[in-house]
Amino acid sequence: MTPLEDNLIRRITRSGPITIADYMTDCLLHPDHGYYTNRDPFGQAGDFITAPEISQMFGELIGLAIAQARMDRGAPEDAILVELGPGRGTLMRDALRAMAKVPGFAMQPWLIEASPMLRKVQADTLAAYDVHWADSLADLPDGPIFVVANEFFDALPIRQFLRDGTGWRERLVGVSEDHLSFGLSAPTELASLEPYLGQTNDGDLVQISAPSNGFMSDLADRICRQGGAALIIDYGSDSPVGDTLQAIQAHEKRDPLFTPGQSDLTAHVDFGALSLAATAAGAVPSVMIPQGVFLEQLGISVRANQLAQSLPPAQAELLVSQHRRLTHPDEMGNLFKVLGITAPGDSSLPGTAPAAPTNPSQG
Ligand code: SAH
Repeated sequence: MTPLEDNLIRRITRSGPITIADYMTDCLLHPDHGYYTNRDPFGQAGDFITAPEISQMFGELIGLAIAQARMDRGAPEDAILVELGPGRGTLMRDALRAMAKVPGFAMQPWLIEASPMLRKVQADTLAAYDVHWADSLADLPDGPIFVVANEFFDALPIRQFLRDGTGWRERLVGVSEDHLSFGLSAPTELASLEPYLGQTNDGDLVQISAPSNGFMSDLADRICRQGGAALIIDYGSDSPVGDTLQAIQAHEKRDPLFTPGQSDLTAHVDFGALSLAATAAGAVPSVMIPQGVFLEQLGISVRANQLAQSLPPAQAELLVSQHRRLTHPDEMGNLFKVLGITAPGDSSLPGTAPAAPTNPSQG
């Protein structure tokens, strides 16, 4: 039994079942036993590999897209580059290196990172830059912010609700025969569930991430008030329906209640909810597009060809497989989606297209 499992079982036995959101928070960020608190989980020897760890092209293209977005907004001198949940700092390093090639486009990097252990890894990766860390958006200096978040929102806690007739029951983590187990609450009412009654059937499971929607609302509000833009990249869809809570350990899927604190615990991102939160805060969300299409529009194939020309055959082959992994619909190309957030009146971000305006007369 992991120390966190022991800890959770005692807590639940004492005060009753907990929400999946509380379970996720403890598993990922418990100050002593949280998954991200104590480890660097990335890479072949770790638990999972993310896009920037697959190829330098990912961070480079994002850096250049942001440099272009900044130019489109009059190249404000005080703009900063912000990454949410930067992992090892690889995306930021590749983005800054690419941006430095655009004259006058060095931007000060700011990282929002909860894990003390990963902050140290980021400091090493980015030793050549003047990096700053912040605990939240509110801690960033004033001015336009250009934000990138790759696989950040999937780590934010969700709650799950099962449609039961015309009402809902919450899926909770309890204890049964000395082990953690899922159960259901008594019928519950929650104002935020009402919109889902029209789009679900009896027995459907809906996932809501209040922290994700709240974060997006603050981010969009800040971009509207002080300028900038954001690129959100993650696995997910535009629907809240379906159980996507998943645990990954050593590149394998695990039972989410198995060895809490020792596997990565995530849920698919509900891009529909993020877009609504951004719109409600006054910002303009783009159409959600597949990562493969986004990277193609940013010129990943041109970049791959250019890099391949200076590589020996074995490395060029590796590059081709990295390109495929990031873009092919059977790999990350379709599962991962991209959402751009801009202020009203600003041009859309490179690689993304603005959502079609809704025509009230057609409502
Ligand atoms: N973007 C990186 C890492 C993705 S993993 C990459 O693509 O490789 C998720 C990252 O988000 C980790 O750095 C983790 O420590 C961080 N994180 C998770 N929850 C967070 C929170 N609530 N606030 C800030 N950072 C968080």
